[in-house]
Amino acid sequence: MLIVQKFGGTSVGDLDRIANVAKRVSATKKEGNDVIVVVSAMSGETNKLVGYAENFSKNPSKAEMDMLLSSGERVTASLLSIALNEMGHKTVAMTGRKAGIITDDSHTKARIEEINPEVMRANIQEGRIIVVAGFQGVNYAGDITTLGRGGSDLSAVAIAGAIGADLCEIYTDVSGIYTTDPRIEPKAKKLDKISYDEMLELASLGAKVLQNRSVEMAKKLNVNLVTRTSFSNEEGTLITKEENIMEAPLVSGIALDRNQARISLIGVIDKPGIASDIFNRLAEAEVNIDVIIQNKAQDGTTNIDFTVPVAELNDAKSVVDAFVAKGDIKDDSYNENICKVSVVGVGMKSHAGVAARAFSTMAENNININMISTSEIKVSMVIDEKYAELAVRGLHATYELDK
Ligand code: ASP
Ligand code: MG
Repeated sequence: MLIVQKFGGTSVGDLDRIANVAKRVSATKKEGNDVIVVVSAMSGETNKLVGYAENFSKNPSKAEMDMLLSSGERVTASLLSIALNEMGHKTVAMTGRKAGIITDDSHTKARIEEINPEVMRANIQEGRIIVVAGFQGVNYAGDITTLGRGGSDLSAVAIAGAIGADLCEIYTDVSGIYTTDPRIEPKAKKLDKISYDEMLELASLGAKVLQNRSVEMAKKLNVNLVTRTSFSNEEGTLITKEENIMEAPLVSGIALDRNQARISLIGVIDKPGIASDIFNRLAEAEVNIDVIIQNKAQDGTTNIDFTVPVAELNDAKSVVDAFVAKGDIKDDSYNENICKVSVVGVGMKSHAGVAARAFSTMAENNININMISTSEIKVSMVIDEKYAELAVRGLHATYELDK
């Protein structure tokens, strides 16, 4: 097999841990596999470098930041290559450039445009273990770029896709994806397999494990992703296409998003085009809208409620204020003390009653549902934040996720 193994910051956090990673990579190679390793900087290193730059400037050049930040990954890539070489392997350490990763010009948050895997392929053919510095590429002019924080996951997935690897293993300090946050529900179970779409909906559970962009990329390039821990031999969670999962459970997990705020627009003038006007303005302000509900008021106006990420609340307020000033909206109110709980599972596509059971669970726990939205594989409910944990535990039990 051709395997891409990506090791995050904590897995290469000090020299002993790098030695440990070398042992694991060496074992994988000795089993007869070809291996491309992608590494992050040692944990804390990237933040340290950001701090150094901020010491000199509040607004440092982004091109310079990329040159600076990309150095963290080069340190770990070279050290790991040296360690593996000392163990008797033929190895080569590569920068993003040598690995053939070409990006656009958006310094500090570049997008991968193409990957030219020829140099990697030739080195694999010669029996070398390749160790790539993650998180970086070059633009067409040859300047170093970085892919955004947490970007070495993306490097690994993109390389796996470009070179046609059989597997892309993401090693972190977490052993996989759980049915819900184990800090909220200690009975949460690790999932063996999950589909890309479920993983994207369960982003809040995987946030510390996998960058969302890399899951989208894995889906697009059809890369089999495994998240597992580098601190034991415990099996992780396979993230793959839905067709590869026989007998998908009805519900795979319960996600909780505490970072939502609710905006209520009261007395919105009832004329065609007003919703389009408001939401287009919000889009222009780059506010991400999630759940929306609209209903008619007695006086012929309408009320519209929607949720936005807390971090975008101020931008949203500015947009809404303009409509209030014009008289198109009578009044507005805001509530940050809400959260969104979601029941996620591809199995619900072919089963009725999943939403009804979720609502019953809220009723049994005396939790009022403020807003509801559904998709083919998800039922989301907006509720008061103080009930977040109660709701998660209740739903986890309802769908027997602890079994
Ligand atoms: N070192 C980079 C960061 O801390 C990239 C990564 O670790 O994935 O964001
Ligand atoms: Mg990471």
